[in-house]
Amino acid sequence: MRPFTSTISLEEARRRLDAAVRPIARTERVRLEDAAGRVAAADVTSPTDVPPFARSAMDGYAVIAADTANAMRSTPTRLRLVDRIYTGQVSSVTVERGTCAEIATGAPLPAGADAVVMVEDTATSSRGHEIEIFAAATAGHHIGRRGEDIAAGDRVIASGDLLSPSRIGALAAIGRTDVEAFAKPRVAILSTGNEVAEPGGSLGPGQIFDVNRFTLGAIVSAHGASAEPHRAAQDTIAALVDALDACATADLIVFSGGSSVGERDLVVDAIAARGEMIFHGIAVRPGKPTAFATIGSMGTPFFGMPGNPTSCLSNAYILLVPFLRALARLPPHAPRTVRAPLGRRITSAVNRHQFYTVRLRDGVALPAFKGSGDITSLSQADGYIEIPADQSVVEEGSSVTVTLF
Ligand code: AMP
Ligand code: MG
Repeated sequence: MRPFTSTISLEEARRRLDAAVRPIARTERVRLEDAAGRVAAADVTSPTDVPPFARSAMDGYAVIAADTANAMRSTPTRLRLVDRIYTGQVSSVTVERGTCAEIATGAPLPAGADAVVMVEDTATSSRGHEIEIFAAATAGHHIGRRGEDIAAGDRVIASGDLLSPSRIGALAAIGRTDVEAFAKPRVAILSTGNEVAEPGGSLGPGQIFDVNRFTLGAIVSAHGASAEPHRAAQDTIAALVDALDACATADLIVFSGGSSVGERDLVVDAIAARGEMIFHGIAVRPGKPTAFATIGSMGTPFFGMPGNPTSCLSNAYILLVPFLRALARLPPHAPRTVRAPLGRRITSAVNRHQFYTVRLRDGVALPAFKGSGDITSLSQADGYIEIPADQSVVEEGSSVTVTLF
């Protein structure tokens, strides 16, 4: 055993991670169908006006506003109907004084007309060739001007914009089929440990199914990156160095297990062979044996997560997610929080910032933490509370802030 000589605080770990992240520079063309949640890598300027023609914003009648100046329900103005214009149709008729054209929402305004009276303010005369107008319209009323939404030359998307459904809609509105976006960071994920077995098969003596590859993969996919799973590596320095080499082309490498100080925890030695340690050991619980390093001549960032599934996933939420999102150029994740009274007293190790999982039942936060090795500490929790390093007890009934998963 080689004990941790020192740990750094959570704040210091975050500082070093922030300093190490280099947002992705690679870009690629992405079809609009696949663009949700991606980040634009270039400004997009509209080549056309949207709408491309003046159009009616209502179902009603295209009129000359001056004709309707005195129109009231008691004394309607009568206009002769000269055309019916549906969407996708351009009228060949010119609306002249004393006439009007029936028009559908979205249909091009006919020549001559300068306003639309909505159908609710009209009635059709018995013969059907005359329309009674009950309300005065001013010029421009219920008309969408050409280019009113987007004018040719307008910037629709700025580089760095998150491609939300509405921004994808704006790109569709100007006729784009694709968009230049930053590439999703490629994240190599690899579990270490002689005991770690692939799910799907049967377990040999002393073996357990691999959990961390899947929890880490899920986190990576949920935060704008693509997960590249690798086969688990054995606990030898040679196997771990080979594993690092196999991940060399990734934008980020995430190992789990072997990051502690046991005789078989050799990730530290593999890092020494291939890179530079930035930190090893954080004063948090769970998740103390977490390492961060840069690997190879490219300085590829490397996370060495603890093997215990809850420690691994807890630190993935706390440290890996912010790093991933900065790498992918996504805005920071802001998890929801709620205040609740604590249902039972909790004691915490002093000098370690503790993340304690809780379940919410009837508005009360109940401790859900079993142990760092138990994935159900997380899978049966709704969120966690934080207990700072200088606090050792949280009393039953005290109000706590629960960060929801
Ligand atoms: P380690 O960090 O390698 O010392 O592992 C700590 C604990 O986590 C041990 O009980 C391991 O068997 C367990 N463990 C390590 N890796 C995994 C994994 N990928 N899935 C589930 N449990 C793991
Ligand atoms: Mg291990």
